[in-house]
Amino acid sequence: MEVKYIKAFGTQAAEAPLEQLNINRRKPTPNDVEIEILYCGVCHSDLHTARNEWHGTVYPCVPGHEIVGKIVSVGEHVTKFKAGDLAGVGCMVDSCQECEYCREDLEQYCINVATQTYNSPDKHLNTQTFGGYSESIVVDEKFVLRVPDNLDLAAVAPLLCAGITTYSPLKHWNVGPGQKVGVIGLGGLGHMAVKIAKAMGAEVIVFTTSPSKVEDAKRLGADAVVLSKDADKMQQYAGKLHFILDAVSAEHDINTYLNLLRVDGSLVLVGAPEQPLPIAAFSLIPARRSFSGSMIGGIAETQEMLDFCGKHNIVSDIEMISLQEINNAYDRLLKGDVKYRFVIDMASLKK
Ligand code: NAP
Ligand code: ZN
Repeated sequence: MEVKYIKAFGTQAAEAPLEQLNINRRKPTPNDVEIEILYCGVCHSDLHTARNEWHGTVYPCVPGHEIVGKIVSVGEHVTKFKAGDLAGVGCMVDSCQECEYCREDLEQYCINVATQTYNSPDKHLNTQTFGGYSESIVVDEKFVLRVPDNLDLAAVAPLLCAGITTYSPLKHWNVGPGQKVGVIGLGGLGHMAVKIAKAMGAEVIVFTTSPSKVEDAKRLGADAVVLSKDADKMQQYAGKLHFILDAVSAEHDINTYLNLLRVDGSLVLVGAPEQPLPIAAFSLIPARRSFSGSMIGGIAETQEMLDFCGKHNIVSDIEMISLQEINNAYDRLLKGDVKYRFVIDMASLKK
């Protein structure tokens, strides 16, 4: 297959910093869209993967799955897009399209395993997939999203992962008016959860470990903010919440939060810490509580989320960085020091 060499940023080993390297992209096939990447969000999953915290990273690894850019060319069978359009790409670039989950628009749970935007076996080339910390990307049009034209493009990028990963469970568990919803961890995912749950009509309570984020949480729309080490304040919410979204990237005591759920309440994990989280039987049993997980969202639902954000004027709060600052940004992510999503200005790759 014909390929094109492009510039990217990635890493050659778990302990190595990210640096500039060259990668291949396939020449667009008839169903493909070729996108010049303008901005790419920095998800904590990029860091987990680059540093092999979930095991299974293949090197070199080029992260990035919050991609927005401009279409430069389309294959002859492409119908939804044309050159010059703005477009987005999220966490997946392919799936089998045939299994029961793909047919239900749940490609993220494809039985034959969806192709992730990075660090998945590439179906076209004899390599793994490479993500959005790069000049351009070639994607089947089925996995390309339309972005709302009323929103700031750089601030739209994080919707492609942080937006859909929080929208999907909030919608699946029918979050809405009359409900008290907890959000744990005010990072990239957490701050999007606050904005989206508010737009869905819920009362939102943020649980944070960072005193410096209390005022921000209110500005982002939270009705109340609790510092999780304040045991008295935590106790005020015991048995009160209908739903909790846990977006924490590191080890934490989940039982403290399960105890805040009402009877039949659900705590849904989207954060994916490296280590298991122990759960006490009596955090669940006495109130028929549920503990679940949720992974990103399907393509149709991602489009629905983007349209929802367009309608409600929702974007991410971002801090723009250059690719040359990426290693420092990862160090800051580890400290919870991001307000609230780093977005890479891809023009920096031309430097
Ligand atoms: P992030 O921006 O780094 O935010 C994580 C937040 O967790 C921090 O801002 C901090 O919030 C809190 N936190 C960090 N360390 C903590 C600790 N030791 N104890 C308690 N709280 C801590 O990360 P993100 O990009 O939002 O991603 C969050 C997690 O979701 C990651 O594990 C990521 O891989 C995962 N993820 C999952 C999916 C999915 O499909 N399920 C998709 C994308 C990402 P406070 O300062 O407010 O405490
Ligand atoms: Zn992500």
